[in-house]
Amino acid sequence: MSATANGIGKSNGKVVPAAYPPPVDSPQEFVKRGLDAEDELIEVGVAIVGGGTAGLACANRLLQLLADDPDLMERLGEVPVAVIEKAKTCGGHNLSGAVMRPGPLQELFPELTREDWRKEGFAFGEVEKEAVYMTPTSKLALRVPTPPPFKNHGNEIVSVSALARYQQRQAEEGGAYVLTETSATQLIVEEGRVVGVRSGDKGRGKEGQELGNFEPGTDIKAKCVVLAEGCWGHLTGAAIREFDLADGREPQVWELGVKEVWKVPKPLDRLIHTVGPWPAKLPGKYGQVGGTWLYPMKDERTGDDLVSIGFVIGLEYADATTSPHDLLQTFKLHPFVRKILAGGERVAWGAKALPGGGYWSMPKLSMPGAVIVGDAGGMVDTAALKGVHHCINSGKLAAEAIFRGLKNGETSFESYEYAIEDSLTGRELYQVRNLRQPFQKGFLRGGPLVNLAIATRGKLPPGRLAWHRNDEKPMFIGNTWKRYPRPDGRYTFDKLSSVFITGNATRDDAPNHIRVQKHVPREVAETWKWMCPAGVYEIPDDAPETGPVDVIVNYTNCVQCGAITAKGGRLTTPEGGDGPLYQIT
Ligand SMILES: Cc1cc2nc3c(=O)[nH]c(=O)nc-3n(C[C@H](O)[C@H](O)[C@H](O)COP(=O)(O)OP(=O)(O)OC[C@H]3O[C@@H](n4cnc5c(N)ncnc54)[C@H](O)[C@@H]3O)c2cc1C
Ligand code: SF4
Repeated sequence: MSATANGIGKSNGKVVPAAYPPPVDSPQEFVKRGLDAEDELIEVGVAIVGGGTAGLACANRLLQLLADDPDLMERLGEVPVAVIEKAKTCGGHNLSGAVMRPGPLQELFPELTREDWRKEGFAFGEVEKEAVYMTPTSKLALRVPTPPPFKNHGNEIVSVSALARYQQRQAEEGGAYVLTETSATQLIVEEGRVVGVRSGDKGRGKEGQELGNFEPGTDIKAKCVVLAEGCWGHLTGAAIREFDLADGREPQVWELGVKEVWKVPKPLDRLIHTVGPWPAKLPGKYGQVGGTWLYPMKDERTGDDLVSIGFVIGLEYADATTSPHDLLQTFKLHPFVRKILAGGERVAWGAKALPGGGYWSMPKLSMPGAVIVGDAGGMVDTAALKGVHHCINSGKLAAEAIFRGLKNGETSFESYEYAIEDSLTGRELYQVRNLRQPFQKGFLRGGPLVNLAIATRGKLPPGRLAWHRNDEKPMFIGNTWKRYPRPDGRYTFDKLSSVFITGNATRDDAPNHIRVQKHVPREVAETWKWMCPAGVYEIPDDAPETGPVDVIVNYTNCVQCGAITAKGGRLTTPEGGDGPLYQIT
């Protein structure tokens, strides 16, 4: 930590990460113009990129519809539905809080009861009691009336990682071909239309050289491609640029969440949210707006009482020493949290970014030959921290539009966009369209406008409130780092031991999948170093106190949270199978 103190030199100015863009040429590198010869490619009906909640909801709904239409099923060929997932198994890269609104999952699998969900191991109980607290200091917690976005009575606590595994089994039983350990690295475009994706090479060394076990990637040709890559997404980014899908929209912004699951001796009897300001800093110059959750989980299969605990913060912050991982460790020291975790043991850890821009930042959701579902399309209500049900809803609506389109021999699936707008997703996101932006002015100055938006159910403030890009926020090296506890390895943990328990299995000699400039002003380097929950970025001890410094990138630690893309870098897809293997996050 003292390295940061060294960094506070005279040149601690305000530096914008966007001025140091990653070395990336998206149209050239991530879009392939044209398919390989027919005998060198794999042909499928619908290719779904991403086996998370949204992608698998789409696969399952499509298979349900195809089961009743054997003609179309046959027309789609030997592999009517393929899901391409980069993790070792579906669920391996998925993380959420998560308290879920149950409706869309009930609609997707109407024969399953909520008791069945719990027996399947992805659901952990219905919310009966809840409480919201303000935490003005490290010692105080004041209960406040539950604001409408935080009302969760009747919702279900789930693990999206376990839910994805369940959905994978269902999809495979329904006839999907699930290609795990496979990254989709290029979008294939022919004559202005998406016609497939290319899978990544495997078995390359650090310098990109072919190793003994090298396997080249393959073109996967499809009648429709579904981009279900989660927050931002590698091919989604390329598609947004290629087809101008973000034209006229607000820029996307992000939040980053770090989560732990604890096994506890005493069940937590209610769902808890805290709305800060502590452990974040209150003064507006820090730009920190964050909150926490504590969700009770009863594992019906083992009888264990678990608690999901997490901290989430908007990436519009300005103090380069903001570390979401360490702020979660700080939060655990609050006496009110200590009581809940006392005598318990940490069983899981993970981190993930989520899109925070909401309604105005959503890109156009379709392009010729492809659609975007779930977080890739920015469908999260960050005021309520709710995206899981929107992901399922969007996957389902996309499947229905694709089914109709394919039946009629169409290549445009635009009707999906209208279906989203008319559905609960469009309605709910519209209602909170201006709710979160005022916090860009800081917690105190933005608070009254946020309350107005809540009180008027979105009618005020009027118009369209702007978002400012996270990477254009001027960064300074502040003192948030002084809050972080020294990890004791029992109750508070460092980043590397946390990455270890994710089951991260990235080869030491894998090629680097993180694109950042490696010689940048200290403000930018410190931002990356502190932000990254996995400790990927290091500044050498002998780096100068002021001016540009070198950045060491320990990319094999990366848990693919995606946050670097918000603050001046670019996460690309690693080799399939690399990264964490989350189980219950
Ligand atoms: C910290 C945190 C807390 C949250 N809490 C809640 C909550 O309590 N309630 C709630 O409703 N919502 C919550 N959300 C939001 C919710 O988790 C998301 O909206 C939802 O899980 C996203 O699902 P998805 O399928 O769109 O994306 P993801 O779950 O990210 O899935 C995308 C999948 O695509 C794969 N993939 C990506 N790119 C490629 C590629 N090129 N090739 C192959 N595979 C690829 C990934 O490995 C991943 O498996 C939270 C989110 C976070 C981050
Ligand atoms: S290096 Fe990986 S884990 Fe670290 S911020 Fe970037 S994407 Fe997240």
